Order: sequence, then C-alpha cells, then structure tokens
Amino acid sequence: MSAHEITFHQIIEQLNKKNVLLVAVSKIKPVKVIKELYDLGQRDFGENYVQELVDKETKLPKDIRWHFIGHLQTNKVKYIAPFVALIHGIDSLKLLKEVNKHGEKNERVIDVLLQIHIASEETKFGLDEIELAELLNSEELKNFKHICIRGFMGMASFSDDAQKVRKEFKHLKILLDNYAPQNITNAQLEILSMGMSGDYEIAVEEGSSMVRIGSLLFGNR
Ligand SMILES: *Cc1c(COP(=O)(O)O)cnc(C)c1O
Repeated sequence: MSAHEITFHQIIEQLNKKNVLLVAVSKIKPVKVIKELYDLGQRDFGENYVQELVDKETKLPKDIRWHFIGHLQTNKVKYIAPFVALIHGIDSLKLLKEVNKHGEKNERVIDVLLQIHIASEETKFGLDEIELAELLNSEELKNFKHICIRGFMGMASFSDDAQKVRKEFKHLKILLDNYAPQNITNAQLEILSMGMSGDYEIAVEEGSSMVRIGSLLFGNR
C-alpha cells in the first residue's frame, strides 16, 4: 500500500466510528489521482473552481457525488446545477435565488449549506448571525422549492491555538442545534460541514458531520 492509501484508510476508519462523511478535496489535482481514490471506494469529492469541476465531472465515473466548496459566483451556478450533489458555500439570498432558479430549470432540488462566518479573520466569506437569522426568516425563502438548505458550513481561523479553533467549531454546532428543530420551509438542517486537514480532529470532537480534507489525502497543492 502507498503512503497515501494508508492515510486514507486511517482517516476513513476514524471518521466511520463517528459517522462523519469524508469529502475528499481534489482541487488542482489531476483526474488520475481522483480515480485512484475512487478505486479505493471514495465517492464524495470537493472542488473549488467551477470550470475545473465541470471538466472533471465529464471525465470521471457518474456515481461520484460532487461537492462545490468554493466561493460561487451567481453567473456560474448554471454550469454545476445539473449534477452538483451539495453546494457548501451559500452566503446570500441572491445566490440562493439563483441556485433555486437553476434547480427549477433542471427539474431537481439542489442541496445546499449556508456558509457561516466563525473565524476571527476578516477575509473569510460567510454569513454573520444576524444575516443568518434574516435569511432563514425571509419570506422569499418559502418560494424556493428547488433548493433544500441541509445545514451549515464553516471554516475556523488558521491558527495554532487549538482552543480558539475549538471554540469556533463549538459555536457553529450551537447555531445548528438552535435552528435545526425549527420548522423552516425548504430547509432540513442536519449537516455540519466543518474541519479540514489541519483541524478536522477538533471539528469531529465538536460535532462535525462532514469534513473537507485535501492536502492530508493528496499531498500539498
Ligand atoms: C481547500 C479547501 C479545503 C481543504 O483544505 P486542506 O487544508 O487541504 O485539507 C477545505 N475546505 C475548503 C473550503 C477549501 O477551500
């Protein structure tokens, strides 16, 4: 077994015990490398760039579940709408409206996650708590029959301070637990997408149900 094959099996074993889904982040990596992981049984892959995702989708097996984890521009939604399994980075009503429009055109319901700003850095995308409340309470959401909000996604601060990272993940879990029992139209909140190569173990301890791991599986980009 190659070193990365061993890493893959170790991560999978660790995550299976906790019922956490692995999204293998394959951005920038060639189709051949994705196929190798596919042959080991991996089916969920995450990509950040629309053009790259569309290109890979045509070249790889049809039973792959493609996750879009990057920052999505409204004018690019149409390219991924026919096949995308889950869009992780929704951070505005405008974008949600566009996804709904293309869900309708493709006669499907598109699963999405709302990206929540949990890090202390200014640069990260995502909704703050007030924007989140506004979006989930908006009248317009009730008309979006072609999307389903399945949960939240968050990125913790890039920090060596594990306590800080843990606190941010904890916060996101509390937010999900708060909204999940509420009866929100076109939402079914149960997925918590948090944790990357450097912090997924903390994320899992804090209640993540989906981790997005790239460099640990595929090597540095
Ligand atoms: C690139 C990326 C990841 C994976 O990062 P690694 O540190 O390589 O595991 C996860 N989530 C998002 C949103 C990303 O852009």
